[in-house]
Amino acid sequence: MAQSAAPAAASPALPITPLPLKAILPWAVFFGILALVLLYFVGAEQGATSLVAGSDVHEWVHDGRHLLGFPCH
Ligand SMILES: [Zn+2]
Repeated sequence: MAQSAAPAAASPALPITPLPLKAILPWAVFFGILALVLLYFVGAEQGATSLVAGSDVHEWVHDGRHLLGFPCH
């Protein structure tokens, strides 16, 4: 069994540059709003708080409601 005793050539260290907050903030706000909209449709799109007439949205997210523990029926 042949093994090399010499260590592999080390890769050159890449400098780690931190991401500035200004670059992250718009995406964080966007995904936060998106998460709130999804949470609304899963958790509250029913009955008096319904934005979409009918029960189509409720049926689409019904399993998610039960998975997340929202009261349903
Ligand atoms: Zn249900």
